[in-house]
Amino acid sequence: MRRSFLMACAFLMVVWFAAHMINPAPAGAHPASGANPAMGADSSAPLDGFSADSARAERDWETKFRALPSPDNLRSYMQRLSARPHHVGTDYDRENAEWILSLFQQWGWNAHIENFYVLFPTPKERVVELVAPTHFKATLEEPTVDVDPTSNQHSEQLPTYNAYSADGDVTAPLVYVNYGIPEDYEELERLGVSVKGAIVIARYGASWRGIKPKVAAEHGAVGCIIYSDPHEDGYFRGDVFPSGPWRPLQGVQRGSVMDMVLYPGDPLTPGVGATKDAKRLPLSEAKTITKIPTLPISYGDAQPLLAALRGPVAPESWRGSLAITYHVGPGPAQVHLKVKANWDTKTLNVVDARIPGSTSPDEWIVRGNHQDAWVNGAEDPISALVDEMEEARAMGELMKQGWKPRRTIIYCVWDGEEEGLLGSTEWGETHADELRRHAAVYINSDSTGRGYLGVGGSHTLEKFMNGVARDIQDPETNLSVWKRHQLAEIAHGSPEVRPDWRIGALGSGSDYTVFVDHLGIASLNLGFGGEDGGGIYHSIYDDFYWYTHFSDTDFRYGRALAQTIGTSVMRLADAELLPFDFTDFADTVQTYDEQLKKLLHDKQEAIRERNREIDEGVFAATNDPKDPKVPPVREDVPPFLNFSPLDNGAAALARSAARYQKAVEKARANGDEALAHASLQQVNQSLIDSERKLTSPEGLPGRPWFVHQIYAPGFYTGYGVKTLPAAREAIEQKEWDEADAALTQIGKILDGEAALIDSAADELEKATQ
Ligand SMILES: [Zn+2]
Repeated sequence: MRRSFLMACAFLMVVWFAAHMINPAPAGAHPASGANPAMGADSSAPLDGFSADSARAERDWETKFRALPSPDNLRSYMQRLSARPHHVGTDYDRENAEWILSLFQQWGWNAHIENFYVLFPTPKERVVELVAPTHFKATLEEPTVDVDPTSNQHSEQLPTYNAYSADGDVTAPLVYVNYGIPEDYEELERLGVSVKGAIVIARYGASWRGIKPKVAAEHGAVGCIIYSDPHEDGYFRGDVFPSGPWRPLQGVQRGSVMDMVLYPGDPLTPGVGATKDAKRLPLSEAKTITKIPTLPISYGDAQPLLAALRGPVAPESWRGSLAITYHVGPGPAQVHLKVKANWDTKTLNVVDARIPGSTSPDEWIVRGNHQDAWVNGAEDPISALVDEMEEARAMGELMKQGWKPRRTIIYCVWDGEEEGLLGSTEWGETHADELRRHAAVYINSDSTGRGYLGVGGSHTLEKFMNGVARDIQDPETNLSVWKRHQLAEIAHGSPEVRPDWRIGALGSGSDYTVFVDHLGIASLNLGFGGEDGGGIYHSIYDDFYWYTHFSDTDFRYGRALAQTIGTSVMRLADAELLPFDFTDFADTVQTYDEQLKKLLHDKQEAIRERNREIDEGVFAATNDPKDPKVPPVREDVPPFLNFSPLDNGAAALARSAARYQKAVEKARANGDEALAHASLQQVNQSLIDSERKLTSPEGLPGRPWFVHQIYAPGFYTGYGVKTLPAAREAIEQKEWDEADAALTQIGKILDGEAALIDSAADELEKATQ
């Protein structure tokens, strides 16, 4: 699983890039591209956080590092790791973890495997059948493809299902609900269609899949079927597998439907590590299992169900690419849906590998990628795991040559990510206290492809990542990946001219979640993508054959990702002063503040306008009696909210950020040796604490596990981020008192952050005079 900013789900990635990043102008075509791409070959260029001498040494080590990752190794690791299905609890999952462990040990790392014991349901019974007006039984099978040598490993493949669906056996009329997000139910209301007592069929897309059964159950549905419409990742996009990369007729997207926006990880051990002796909730009290049975199907299986629906014709934007007229229902199609799972406990194998820091061993840089897959998982997650492995091998080589990182580096290989971020969450919860004390940064990856560097993360690291991206060469254009990204932004018409490109905020969908959202550790999520599409996500066709025919087939972008992340880890681990910057962060918070004001204003305008239309009789006059619509009801216009606490907090943050930046400049002006000789432990500790300071112990309303007050996955979007979440979601859900309280609370959090940055500026000035 993965993707928020980068959206590893291949079809989302394609949609995102189609919308935002059409192919960049060829080099030289745009006036801004005439400049030298500056590949970081200048070994005397300064580096933020380094004195002049140590910057020179660092650039030498980084240059040596970037020469080491090998596309041939990436290919052979992938072939080995994706040779058999390796979901949680299988022999091959454990063998992979043990093989990776042995390699890390050969490469000179202190490594071990840590086990956790988690609830992991696997399918026992699955039925989807149309029982009226005609009979059709869904196959629920993905067939072997002759040219694809691992697609026939049926005895080891996890059947197509949605993990953490409730068990159930229901027969009911069918209703088509488009993507099944809250707006779709508003539209259904206007069509006069209720899903109460019905089974809904929703297409994949527009939200994280777990939102679909959750919202359906909130509206009274008794079952949920999710299918892959060819519009999203099938023949509408291009040729289907095996002649092309897109989803074939019977391809199914497996996936978790755990309610992860409450808390991810083992449903039975919220907030604590799922160790052998952990106290566990009884299954009946686990809050993150769906309320209604849910099953995913292919478009081959979905077409007869959808074709049997009558009732209103679906609104135009709801129609997919099947050769039918899309109706909403309810009925006359009646569907029988049965889901039953084995509710077993399975063992997770998390690899933990370390290089101890030479001078600041208590400051940690943590990096991770998951190893488990739904089936063979060559793209998700092996494509980026192999990059993590080449980073580790290359750092092992540098250690032999005498490189000693200043800080401790911890490389983790997660297990059970696909089911609900199980390994990273349980590891993070088990080691919460030490991570809160020591972890400066967490860097994640989870699948990668060809194209542009995608960066999501904490904005205190935005300037840092811009610096790294300037030093990495894009394999196709020989520009820096930074320059290529900037030109793509210009090509897609971004009006913004700012020295640093902006990074996206993190929602959820991969293993960074526990680090940023629960522990308050500055985090990054990185990967390449945007040039290849595909429709094999979470199917048996995500395998070595597919990846080596349709994605980063020569592994050059894999090497670029290893170079990017390895360089980031080394630079963070070696800097005398951690290269955090607060000016881009303050600037970003200002934009969030503006967004919230606009959100409220737009809501006021829309409701005022609709009330006016109701009063003038617009809906009655335009209603077609043969195709009647339910008129909307009058609503109170949203009140004005008090934004002053947020405005003041954001302004204080901007002042402190500028002050800290001055202190950094002054330290540099005081001579190259200021940083080298200063005792920076105190200021580094303040920098480590700066992300922690953005959390509040009581967490977000209704979901105390999520403590970060700037970023969170949306309660009704799942992967998609909500920034300043307590206030934004209160406004979206029209909870005005909660919204006012949240604006005050976020203002206080920003005041606290500003005070911490001020003291870091003082400490830095004192240390470097
Ligand atoms: Zn993944």
